[in-house]
Amino acid sequence: MNEKAERLQRIQVTALDEILGETLPVLDDGFVRVIDYMGNDGAVVQAARVSYGAGTKQVSDDRSLIRYLLRNRHTTPFEMCELKLHVRVPMDAWRQWIRHRTASVNETSTRYSIAIDAAQRTPPASWRFQAASNRQGSEGRLDAAAGAELTQQERELQQHARTVYQERLERGVAREQARKDLPLCTYTEAYWKMDLHNLLHFLALRMDSHAQQEIRAYATLIGEQIVARWVPLTWEAFDDYRLGAVGLSRLETAIAAALGGGDRQKALTIARDAGWLKHGKNGLLRNRERDETEAKLTRLNLAIPWRSEPDV
Ligand SMILES: Cc1cc2nc3c(=O)[nH]c(=O)nc-3n(C[C@H](O)[C@H](O)[C@H](O)COP(=O)(O)OP(=O)(O)OC[C@H]3O[C@@H](n4cnc5c(N)ncnc54)[C@H](O)[C@@H]3O)c2cc1C
Repeated sequence: MNEKAERLQRIQVTALDEILGETLPVLDDGFVRVIDYMGNDGAVVQAARVSYGAGTKQVSDDRSLIRYLLRNRHTTPFEMCELKLHVRVPMDAWRQWIRHRTASVNETSTRYSIAIDAAQRTPPASWRFQAASNRQGSEGRLDAAAGAELTQQERELQQHARTVYQERLERGVAREQARKDLPLCTYTEAYWKMDLHNLLHFLALRMDSHAQQEIRAYATLIGEQIVARWVPLTWEAFDDYRLGAVGLSRLETAIAAALGGGDRQKALTIARDAGWLKHGKNGLLRNRERDETEAKLTRLNLAIPWRSEPDV
């Protein structure tokens, strides 16, 4: 052993150790458990400061540095931290989750093992309507009576699918084939490990209001109950500069600046030149980018110029 080697303590985060291995429930039968982690806020700072060899300094300095790194997308120091989770997720949400390629994953094999006997169920008041404006989204709820019928149908369908699966197994059908008619609501389990930089990217996409509600429930739990405990300074910066931030394009910045300067006509000209204010028989034609800009202007408490007066 090198006598001159610097003696290091293994990094431990007490707040995260307190929930290590604990099953944090999500949906009706899902969960997330922290299996292990590497690093903490200090490790991010230490990596960023490696050129000084100074390690961590004052907490206030650490906070400023982490905020600077996150604000300016200096990403690699965040890759020095890793989180390993054990998750139990319905297949439909898992199908979205597994698209995040920067994770290391081991999933239960239904070729090797019998599929988990649990399916996500929908309570009568939780059936959502198809969103009118967003083809991928949902909005509002069906009334409880209609919901109760759908929930009953769901129960029967899930029971039938399970019975057929069980029967195939009993008749000796291979597990890899017997599973083919199991529904997407069937739970799967996986060990899932990711570095903090990519985890924040996952959370930014999957905590967002555009993400499906089910995966959003998992992402929100991972963010608010796990990452916030593990790396509180990073989480605070992420909340400030990603989750709570409004990103403006060049055109949006010009429109907001015109509105801030009281020049509504200029804002309208910019939008018109961008092709956002084309009319059809029933008024303004749909324009997705304009819709997104409207949401941002509303967050900034700015009047939407093409909505505020009927002269466009
Ligand atoms: C609201 C929403 C709707 C979506 N709808 C659809 C849909 O309709 N259809 C569909 O197919 N998908 C859809 N997706 C999935 C989406 O397109 C991404 O595949 C998914 O979010 C993973 O993102 P990612 O690639 O950035 O993440 P990761 O795979 O974790 O990658 C992180 C980053 O690493 C880099 N990276 C990783 N692998 C590569 C690579 N091979 N080459 C280059 N760079 C790489 C990229 O910079 C990437 O952003 C949707 C996602 C969201 C959030």
